[in-house]
Amino acid sequence: MTVWALALGSALQALSGECPTGALKIIQRDAEDFDDEAVEERLKTVIDAKKEEPAVQMACGCPSSHIQTFAPTCSCDEANEPVARHSVGSQLTHWPVQIRLVPPTAKFLKNSDLLVAADCTAFAYPNLHQDLLKGKTLLIGCPKFDDARMYIEKFSEIFNAASIKSITVAVMEVPCCAGLPEIVKMGMKMAGKQIPLEKVVISGRGQIIRREKLAA
Ligand code: SF4
Repeated sequence: MTVWALALGSALQALSGECPTGALKIIQRDAEDFDDEAVEERLKTVIDAKKEEPAVQMACGCPSSHIQTFAPTCSCDEANEPVARHSVGSQLTHWPVQIRLVPPTAKFLKNSDLLVAADCTAFAYPNLHQDLLKGKTLLIGCPKFDDARMYIEKFSEIFNAASIKSITVAVMEVPCCAGLPEIVKMGMKMAGKQIPLEKVVISGRGQIIRREKLAA
């Protein structure tokens, strides 16, 4: 069977004759007859091989849920790091920090003073590490976009499993953040616990504008 190796060239020739620049040429050559069965056999082999390929394994869970504890950054670490010379050392001592990711039985929760911070506070208040986090265990979440019911249950489990000594709740001044202390209080109520509770309200300009003790 004769095959037109350059179908495009053929089409061009049909439309406009020979290519004026010689860039395209029509070549005729002999080839074996097209074999439908051989093509089908080849396709079947390729498809079967694909089926037998091992599936790509996804990580079995969010890497962020891997529990870690570590020491806060000390001033000597800062002194050894020129870039961070004027920065405040991290006071974070554990991972994860998202409320939904922290298991109620995590060791770092035991007998701790808890800082429950609304997500936005970390960005609004530049001294959060030194002024609010130092010496505390951190949990963060957003009362507006996260699942409040799930948070109440999670806090209840935490208060039952870990002997939390005190709770500081840091929220933004905007109304959408006001639900976080209420979520913590409902968690306490569900757990039947009375834990000293303080609310710290932060302005959008990065100032603490109010601190108040709350009744559980
Ligand atoms: S409730 Fe509003 S201010 Fe508070 S963390 Fe969520 S988005 Fe930010």
